Amino acid sequence: MYNPNNIFARILRNEIPAKKVEETTHTLAFHDAFPKAPVHILVIPKKPYVTFHDFVSMADAEEILDFYKTVDAIVRSHDLHHTGYKLQINTGEGGGQEVPHFHLHIMGSHR
Ligand code: AMP
Repeated sequence: MYNPNNIFARILRNEIPAKKVEETTHTLAFHDAFPKAPVHILVIPKKPYVTFHDFVSMADAEEILDFYKTVDAIVRSHDLHHTGYKLQINTGEGGGQEVPHFHLHIMGSHR
């Protein structure tokens, strides 16, 4: 069950601030507030999905394409395709997911 009071839902409603990197019709990206790499950006769909499975099974093709195209655009705009980067999706308690709104971490070493 989706909790509409999770921190990313509140960022989407502009109730709390975030350092936005990119925004499209379906997708929002912002800097991680507690970065674990020199570049640490979170990418989220705007609709309320909790897990990777929820996103893949419930989002339509346009949303999914928009999400991954946005990830790739950020990688390229931050020049990470030259230096290397990590994409990470934590899922569920055992997977280390703290915020129950589906998100992908982009982590790289190049500012
Ligand atoms: P996860 O552990 O995969 O759920 O990742 C959640 C991420 O959200 C962590 O890397 C946190 O540092 C980050 N985070 C928590 N609160 C905020 C916030 N208000 N703005 C931006 N990032 C946040």
